[in-house]
Amino acid sequence: MSIWLDIAVQTPAHSQVGGLLSYRSPQALQAGQLVRVPLGQREVLGVVWAVRDAAPPDIPASAVRDVLGVLEGLPALDEAWRQLVQFSAQYYQRSLGEVALSALPPQLRDLSSVQLARRLKKQQPERTVHTTCGPELSAEQSAVLTQLAANTGPFLLFGSTGSGKTEVYLQAVERMLARDPQAQALLMVPEINLTPQLEQRVQARFGSDAVVSMHSGLTPAQRLKGWLAAHAGQARIVLGTRMAVFASMPNLQLIVVDEEHDPSYKQQEGARYSARDLAVYRARLHRAKVLLASATPSLESWHHSRPAVAGEPGGRYQRLLMPSRIGTGVLPKVRRVDMNKQPRRTVLSAPLLAALQARVERGEQCMLLLNRRGYAPVLHCADCGWKSACQHCSAFRVFHKIDRTLRCHHCGLTERVPRACPDCGNADIAPIGRGTEQLEEHLCELLAHVLRPDGTPVRIARIDADTTRPKGALESQLAQVHAGEVDILVGTQMIAKGHDFRRITLVAAVNPDTALFSSDFRAPERLFALLMQAAGRAGRDASQSASSEMWVQTFHPTHALFEALKQHDYPAFAASELAERSAAELPPISHQALLRADARSQEAAQALLNAARQALEAQLAANPDTAELMLQVSIYPAVPMGMQRVADVERAQMLLESSSRMALQKVLWHLHGVLHQVRNRPEHKGVIRWLVDVDPQAI
Ligand code: ADP
Ligand code: ZN
Ligand code: ZN
Repeated sequence: MSIWLDIAVQTPAHSQVGGLLSYRSPQALQAGQLVRVPLGQREVLGVVWAVRDAAPPDIPASAVRDVLGVLEGLPALDEAWRQLVQFSAQYYQRSLGEVALSALPPQLRDLSSVQLARRLKKQQPERTVHTTCGPELSAEQSAVLTQLAANTGPFLLFGSTGSGKTEVYLQAVERMLARDPQAQALLMVPEINLTPQLEQRVQARFGSDAVVSMHSGLTPAQRLKGWLAAHAGQARIVLGTRMAVFASMPNLQLIVVDEEHDPSYKQQEGARYSARDLAVYRARLHRAKVLLASATPSLESWHHSRPAVAGEPGGRYQRLLMPSRIGTGVLPKVRRVDMNKQPRRTVLSAPLLAALQARVERGEQCMLLLNRRGYAPVLHCADCGWKSACQHCSAFRVFHKIDRTLRCHHCGLTERVPRACPDCGNADIAPIGRGTEQLEEHLCELLAHVLRPDGTPVRIARIDADTTRPKGALESQLAQVHAGEVDILVGTQMIAKGHDFRRITLVAAVNPDTALFSSDFRAPERLFALLMQAAGRAGRDASQSASSEMWVQTFHPTHALFEALKQHDYPAFAASELAERSAAELPPISHQALLRADARSQEAAQALLNAARQALEAQLAANPDTAELMLQVSIYPAVPMGMQRVADVERAQMLLESSSRMALQKVLWHLHGVLHQVRNRPEHKGVIRWLVDVDPQAI
């Protein structure tokens, strides 16, 4: 007597089998159990997806192989988890097996049953929670917690920087545990490395036993340990990045997505899921509450939480508000410097320099933001026009003065800076534009004479992807800032996010203009969020907040974005952006997906996309039921991607757009089938790969 099973195993991306294979087992198994099965010559990990009543009709019984063994001691993955995986695979157009297996800790695949048993034995059976008391809540915080308790959500918490959102998360968890000591909460953050304080805060509140972390910086052993604790229902709180949305948590009752607008919630390879969107979906599966929170919500979430107005129903999220900073803290005053009135080529305007000097002399800290690392983005020969282009990418190589290299930030190609122009021999090749490295150097020169209150010279430091490459470097550099060992911090957006720097009173955006005129329709939204975040770093200590300032150097001082920033008026900014999106029928009013092809030549990449489009249209037109979809979904011709060539691979994309998410999903489903046929035609041999990005973040 044996039973028939459909089992999810890791199969190649886009595989037609959908990642479920048929197996047989002599012993009874249930859906969600983890098993080892043979696949070709290998033995692989699988998840039992369904138990069949009879042998699968489409394969001879003799071809069905036996399950090799069960991972003993592990409870089955619950139905909600399986539904989450199934939905993600379908929605993001990947195979079920790929999504299921990549949602599990990698070590599970490699450990033998003996090794696993040893690991399980080492897990602490009881993880204790020691809740220490938080501060007394502000009126706004209390009101939010009351609404959280009284309604079902999903919730969008729109709270200023420093309004005490984190405290709301902690007390929501506390109340959940008071109600049900076995409950579990998932706390998601964009990047854990950037906010080590949050981890400490959660551990301090609930005890380190109660909390496990999940992010890509952990060793495989740490990941497995945390995963097992969550899966067994022992860990009360999982704190993690986007991958944590797939953590197995049988008693999940609360999900928090902090800084929900952050682009890093979108996975950029494999299944390109949005962890924020999946969090909302998952909450429904578990009947858990989900709280998205931000000082600058994504326009998607803002739109979904719109209140009902005469005749028009509201969105399905409930909006909660915390407009005030904790204590007497106020938001910094925003000052715009009109760069048109500054001498040409000014990097740091005279008034900004004077303000920096005054702050340093008073012993306060300042932060300068420039979203470009390296010394200069391009080297240039004025004689012949040579520029430091990368041979392999459609991008310039960036000049890094510290080791005198030209580095491509896309493919990594690194070379010594040539002594003379490679084309004409001119010895006088010069940098154009500036990055953080140059800004730091420039600042050191301009402020060399400035002294701190104790008579010692000003201390300037830089934090960006270059300075933080060594493991632990970021943490130690941040610690220096917190300890007050830095007066002026220069950096990329890395320093704008989430840090609770207590002594910073002035933040300046040195050159934010490029994002105003980007071809990416989301660029203004990103810029606004970044500047509001950056402003939120200033004056976090209430005693100094009254004199805190956010400076913006710009050639477009009257731009609506800066007007809204000056008023700290996210709703005004969002309203005007949404009006534009609505007029242009862009997300969140419409829904998009991108089909992308990579090939050796741009023609080959575009040819695949256009052929797929033709085949798709033919297939849809052939059936009256599907012909209607063509009216609902616009499919645009293939075009080169913004970054057209990376590491000698040409990239093209095709946009699909619809006001109906459902119609778009149906078309993508057809497209998926069509692509397999088209891809196999001999004329598309030059194509390296294709992929689908649903709800893309950049187009
Ligand atoms: P946000 O996440 O909204 O930026 P935080 O939760 O980090 O804000 O709160 C900002 C600061 O205010 C933190 O130092 C926090 O400890 C403190 N804080 C938060 N809530 C309270 C409260 N109710 N009473 C006193 N201090 C608070
Ligand atoms: Zn030259
Ligand atoms: Zn390159």
